[in-house]
Amino acid sequence: MPLLETRNLTKTFGGLKALDDVTVSVDQGELVSLIGPNGAGKSTLINTITGMLEPTSGEITYAGTDLIGLDPFEIAQLGVGRSFQTASIFPELTVRENIQVAAFATEHGSFTVNFLSRRDSYDAVRDRTDHILETIELEDNAGAVAESLPYGDKRRLEVAIGLATDPDLMFMDEPTAGMSPGETEMTVSLIRELLADWNMTIFLVEHDMDVIFDVSDRIFTLNDGAIIAKGTPDEIKSDPAVREAYLGG
Ligand code: ADP
Ligand code: MG
Repeated sequence: MPLLETRNLTKTFGGLKALDDVTVSVDQGELVSLIGPNGAGKSTLINTITGMLEPTSGEITYAGTDLIGLDPFEIAQLGVGRSFQTASIFPELTVRENIQVAAFATEHGSFTVNFLSRRDSYDAVRDRTDHILETIELEDNAGAVAESLPYGDKRRLEVAIGLATDPDLMFMDEPTAGMSPGETEMTVSLIRELLADWNMTIFLVEHDMDVIFDVSDRIFTLNDGAIIAKGTPDEIKSDPAVREAYLGG
């Protein structure tokens, strides 16, 4: 049984079919990528699976649990996480504080005063934060105010906040967008580390085809809301429908 599966997932916005009968699956430990031109529906698929949007029809199951109708918070508690958007970073808090707030909130549903008296939980959150800072290579900037970070570090902080929610499956929506080659390389090695050392399962949306072909076990191709091809990197590279729709012939 796949870890995550969508069946015939459809999402319409007014007259627009942003997702059209999308059936995808992700196995435990896999890195599955989703590619497709701008407006294909990639972010809509992530937002629908993580509970930010309600699907029009179709099914979503994670580890045998039906996700339809659950709140984003409930889905996160089941182990489905996402790399957060820059907009969800608290700009005036430090890197460490941003990660801790996410970790606290995940353990307890909210950041409550009651919680602060629980020393054991506090220690667990602090240890997890240290581990994340090290993985994400932001230890040296742990005390820096988030808004002062260079672009690439800010983007890695988004991943760090996602990790703080302790996911088994993590969605990443264009994690290398706007990055320099050096920053992209750092993100790719971070992804590898999450797969190898954190036993993470990853669902990646990414526009950089070198990154995609490098890290993916399997690739789904979305075009106008519909899956037009799926397969290994080699199969996708030579797929005529993908070449026509996406790789420019
Ligand atoms: P991608 O991430 O592949 O670039 P999106 O999932 O963001 O594509 O968008 C797919 C289509 O759905 C686009 O035509 C977009 O304009 C539309 N869309 C996305 N979100 C909304 C929304 N909240 N309301 C209306 N239309 C939307
Ligand atoms: Mg998008």
